[in-house]
Amino acid sequence: MAKSPDEMTQPEIKIWRAQVLKSLDETTRKCDETLKKTKESKKILDESLSQSENLSEKWKSYENRFNHAMKNLVLQIGKQMVLTPLEPIKEEPAYEPEKMSPLDASKLLKHKRNIIILTGAGLSAASGIPTFRGNDGLWTKKYKYCDSAEDFATLRNFKEHPEALWEWMHYRLELCKQAEPNEGHKTILQFQEYCKLNGVKCHLITQNIDGLHTRLARQSEVLAVEETKQGDPSHGFTDCVFEIHGNLNYSRCFAECSKDLKEVQTPKSELSSEEQIPKCEECESIMRPHVLWFDECYTQELHRVDEVRSILDSEIDALIIVGTALQTSLASNIVSHCLMKNILTIDINVEPACHFGSVVEVCGKSEETLPILFSPFISKKSSKSS
Ligand SMILES: [Zn+2]
Repeated sequence: MAKSPDEMTQPEIKIWRAQVLKSLDETTRKCDETLKKTKESKKILDESLSQSENLSEKWKSYENRFNHAMKNLVLQIGKQMVLTPLEPIKEEPAYEPEKMSPLDASKLLKHKRNIIILTGAGLSAASGIPTFRGNDGLWTKKYKYCDSAEDFATLRNFKEHPEALWEWMHYRLELCKQAEPNEGHKTILQFQEYCKLNGVKCHLITQNIDGLHTRLARQSEVLAVEETKQGDPSHGFTDCVFEIHGNLNYSRCFAECSKDLKEVQTPKSELSSEEQIPKCEECESIMRPHVLWFDECYTQELHRVDEVRSILDSEIDALIIVGTALQTSLASNIVSHCLMKNILTIDINVEPACHFGSVVEVCGKSEETLPILFSPFISKKSSKSS
């Protein structure tokens, strides 16, 4: 037990005093340190306080300016509504289909000068390429990682499973490479040639990504499609065919080091699905198929959407719809636009695609009906075309 100072000897008292003094020194030093830290904290607090005052001033000023701008905007809108009253909403014209034979329908095309042909998967069915939404269409198949094709063929899924999407694309590309254009494709090309030789504007817009229209067009001496090679900015695009959903035969850099289109090569079968993903020669990123996924938007650069819109703004006098259920937005917009303007619309389908407006329905397979529909024009085309 420690002694009290009264019980201590003189030398013990000296040692005890020295210890007490040392302990006091230590306490004083710690107090000084705490004081210094408190001062520093106070300085930081002062700074924060002044900043928060500034912030609340800035917020108040922003709030005032925002309220002012909103009041002006509402006033402007109000003025404009008075100056230009809202147009009454146009009602969709009632559905008035008129069933016709292809030969009768062809008579309606006689003096037309600015025609759109809009094609879909039904046209290529006779070439052995499965449609998407039919009974045994591609979209009814089971896909890796997804319940539906609308989930599968998406940019989001490509980011997660590029090997699965490429496996599917390579399979479909092989189908398309083995397929030959059918009588439907051939007579459309002959009609395009007739139009070019006779000063009629004919815009072929396709939702198909099989490349069969362009393959044929490139063989036509009349259409004289410009030859391009890999590396040319327009490589993969054909002036006389609008491939609004892309073309399976091409791919582009997923990292977008450039937007140039490269031909897709058949991968070696011994490679794993990861190894079969094509790589960009410039930046070594993976390549992506040049097709529009379900969760992507149309662009001018890749899908020529501005050109399609400007065609719609021109004086179109006939629209021919071939083999499509019009389930994609741009295609259905084209048709709605023409029906609202009462432009002659001929629907060539096994099942009619239109459900409003006055439509000429030609029921049947396109490879059988198109040769009849275009026969009066094909026989008149110049003898120099093949
Ligand atoms: Zn690249």
